[in-house]
Amino acid sequence: MTTCKTGADHIKSLKDGRTVYIDGKLVEDVTEHPAFRNAVRSAAALYDFQARPENVELMTFSPNGSHRRINRAWQMPRSYQELVQRRKALQAWAALSCGFIGRSPDHVASTLVGQRIGLDVFEKHGPERAKALAAYFEEASSEDRFLTYVIINPQAERAKAWGDQAEELVARIVDEDADGITIRGAKLLGTSSIMANEVLIANLQPLRSGEEDLAFSCALPMNIKGLRVLSRKSYEAAATSVFDNPLSSRFDENDALIYFEDVKVPWERVFVHRDTDMCRAQFHDTPAHAYQNYQAQIRLSVKLKFLVGLAHRITEAIGTTDIPSVREQLGFLAAHAGTVGSMLAGMEAEGTMRGQWYVPNRHYMYSAQVMTQDMYPRIVNALRELAGGSLIMLPSSVHDFSDPHLAKIIRTTQRSTKMTPEEKVKFMKAAWDAIGSEFGSRHTQYEMFYAGARFVTTGHSYRTFDWSGATAMIDGLLSTYDLEDALGGRRQR
Ligand SMILES: Cc1cc2nc3c(=O)[nH]c(=O)nc-3n(C[C@H](O)[C@H](O)[C@H](O)COP(=O)(O)OP(=O)(O)OC[C@H]3O[C@@H](n4cnc5c(N)ncnc54)[C@H](O)[C@@H]3O)c2cc1C
Repeated sequence: MTTCKTGADHIKSLKDGRTVYIDGKLVEDVTEHPAFRNAVRSAAALYDFQARPENVELMTFSPNGSHRRINRAWQMPRSYQELVQRRKALQAWAALSCGFIGRSPDHVASTLVGQRIGLDVFEKHGPERAKALAAYFEEASSEDRFLTYVIINPQAERAKAWGDQAEELVARIVDEDADGITIRGAKLLGTSSIMANEVLIANLQPLRSGEEDLAFSCALPMNIKGLRVLSRKSYEAAATSVFDNPLSSRFDENDALIYFEDVKVPWERVFVHRDTDMCRAQFHDTPAHAYQNYQAQIRLSVKLKFLVGLAHRITEAIGTTDIPSVREQLGFLAAHAGTVGSMLAGMEAEGTMRGQWYVPNRHYMYSAQVMTQDMYPRIVNALRELAGGSLIMLPSSVHDFSDPHLAKIIRTTQRSTKMTPEEKVKFMKAAWDAIGSEFGSRHTQYEMFYAGARFVTTGHSYRTFDWSGATAMIDGLLSTYDLEDALGGRRQR
């Protein structure tokens, strides 16, 4: 019988003795803790969704004829058609959280797919490291593991090079022997790390020669000795109820600082070793960066559709939908969602073959990244503008409805032509959770930064654009006339 990973399998796999701290305390079991348990269930729901008989074909595939099916995020597409088929699975997963789980398992699986496609780059770095990566890909994919990654260094003295930061800040190699390397220091921002099985550790920010201690990448199980997870505040724990905070109570994937206290990494888990350029090449000379950020745009396209839907519903709730200037604003917002959808279609249609594998168009992906990190806060702002005070003038919590006198006042004051007072309160609380709550605000920060600050994403766009094609047109134009023609008064060619 064909099987695939289920939610129960995932929850069981997280009871592994990992070291997670929140509010000054060690968490005994992330699957039961009030700061994390609903997010863990939402992650588990992704696997239950793929395991449903009606979804198995959409969501999973059998690698090399195996009896165990795994999520399509691990699929290395051989054609445009397979890329689109894979995208539909990723889209279906994103829809389960309305796009609010940014680091669902398909994100880092996409990184690894890109690195596996670009194995030749690791082979140039060293046959042992390439062997380690290929074996790890087999192992992680065949078990459909949930991976997160930490590939960014902590901000301290941003004007200084990474190698010049205080000792024990940025994770670095502090020792190595016949068994492997030992790492010490921090990486961030381990989104979803509380509910992932493993973490990929790498360095994406540029390194200089001389910074070889920082130049490594590896994958570790979350429960490895010495790996400490320092969670940020839990929005899930702060949520009053699902009715009050339908998103933060269930989709708070969490972000955390990951600290490595002399963690020993065996050689078979080390993919980059003391090579500063290889830190860059593993993402940019392979299609890893293209694949991971293509996944991010797939997810974002779902979220933007959701936000644009919220905008329309807000106007229905307060009775402004038919005002011409409001319609214009809605049409403008809809164009944003349409733009992201079409950029995705462009990445797919204008992809290229790399050996036997099909890779989405990198420049279109970077264009989407630059545009969407700017677009997201503007969309959030547009929703605020459309809503006015209705997002705020809400009962303090669901408990106000349990007092008959207060419930009567709420029913009198929360009026709408399209919704009952209960429906209006329920909806407006969901809208506020999405864009205005602490959870919603974190999402704005996420969309602005997850792929790098603007100077980084615009740099990628700059490097991947067809400048010679663009400037050739200028040269073509300039070649049609010259100074001599102008001075001689002759007619232009
Ligand atoms: C919610 C959230 C979740 C995240 N999850 C993850 C995760 O799971 N894994 C992971 O690895 N990372 C994660 N990140 C980290 C993310 O990748 C970084 O925030 C991003 O790369 C920007 O790096 P930084 O935060 O160090 O900001 P910086 O690069 O320091 O940029 C901050 C600001 O400083 C200025 N600045 C800094 N340096 C320069 C410069 N050289 N030139 C010009 N301006 C400069 C710019 O104004 C910039 O906008 C997450 C971030 C957020 C906000």
